Amino acid sequence: MTEESLIAEDKAEPPSCSPEADEPPLSPSVFRRKFYPDVSDAQWNDWRWHFRNRITSVEDLSRFIPLTVKERTRLKLVSARFPLAVTPYYLSLMDLDDPCDPVRLQAVPSSLEVAAGAGHEDPLAEERDSVVPGLVHRYPDRVLMVLTDICAMLCRHCTRKREWHHGGWIHTPAEIERMLDYIRRTPQVRDVIISGGDPLTLSTPQLEKVLSALRQIPHVEIIRIGTRFPVVLPQRIDEELCAMLSKYGPIWLNTHFNHPNEITPEAAGACDRLLRAGVQVNNQSVLLRGVNDTVDTQLKLCHGLLRAKVRPYYLFQCDQVQGTEYFWTPVEVGLRIIEGMRGHTSGLAIPNYVIDLPDGRGKIPLTPNYVLTRTDHELVVRNYEGHISHFTNPKSAPLPRKPKVGVTAPPQLPFGWTVTEVKNEDRAGIRP
Ligand code: SF4
Repeated sequence: MTEESLIAEDKAEPPSCSPEADEPPLSPSVFRRKFYPDVSDAQWNDWRWHFRNRITSVEDLSRFIPLTVKERTRLKLVSARFPLAVTPYYLSLMDLDDPCDPVRLQAVPSSLEVAAGAGHEDPLAEERDSVVPGLVHRYPDRVLMVLTDICAMLCRHCTRKREWHHGGWIHTPAEIERMLDYIRRTPQVRDVIISGGDPLTLSTPQLEKVLSALRQIPHVEIIRIGTRFPVVLPQRIDEELCAMLSKYGPIWLNTHFNHPNEITPEAAGACDRLLRAGVQVNNQSVLLRGVNDTVDTQLKLCHGLLRAKVRPYYLFQCDQVQGTEYFWTPVEVGLRIIEGMRGHTSGLAIPNYVIDLPDGRGKIPLTPNYVLTRTDHELVVRNYEGHISHFTNPKSAPLPRKPKVGVTAPPQLPFGWTVTEVKNEDRAGIRP
């Protein structure tokens, strides 16, 4: 089978997405007893064990997921172009018999990745905005520091899928020093986002070297870490890591839960440990067809995040990356979701729905339209129930000026009053 014949076959008969069996999915504990009976608790709770035992080939995967010979051939073809890596922990969250399972869809390759021709390798033009290798400086006050392209899991919707071809790399200490040097020489940088790949694939001492160097730069106020470890391998958020992070605050950690089934006791525990170490945790989800493109799923996701004390920060429109077209949704879907949430739950549970514009032009928020008409004097608006209201548009009144030294302050006037003439000895010129 070639890519061409696979594409032709999929066009003739699109891959089905219906469960092959009505059996309830295995619980994570049953999964573990079935597939890893000899693995001790200590091993299962050790992130390094999961990392070493990631499933990275179709043969490996077929031990867990029933695949026909033909399906194996198809997935081998796909994974030759877009590799595969899943942690045993994340695999334990899937309904292995359901090709539509929202967790499985994010991790298991699909022949649709090569069937679709649309999209770009680097839609956000990150490589163009690199000032030194690994450092993207696009916005005036913040930089993106890419330390590695290694991830615990390879998410099928990843924006940096282009990096998967290059094999795993970590920037050398000399390369990291060049990035730090640029930041030292650029005083307008007050916010550094450490990303990847996944920067938590570095060992804790390696990561500490970077954080410690950044903290010695006086103009760096905030450090952010982008990582999916709390979701795909929460065991990584161990006491050693948290103790180290607690020394270099303020640190904000942005993670990436996409579905309520990912908010397990282990994942919530990881977020709790981070918060206790003084690390704020935000969530940046991606809107994915078949995974989280309904109001109900997003409500469950965001309510689950709040219960885990994680702020739902962004809901991203899926970037138009090559090999991800089957996840894309029209923006109307995202707008309907936000509209279905607004008013029906606390504003705290509602993420900002944004498009990260192609060609590195930045993020723009998308919101449903609640303003029907607007003049200088009035807005006609509708609320979440469809009720129409008129809202008076206030005029902007000048702020009271601070009096100059030696000059008597004018009296405070009631709203709408004006001053025609003011004499210190005679206030009679004030009129409504
Ligand atoms: S963890 Fe992030 S960078 Fe890594 S594959 Fe997933 S989405 Fe891409």
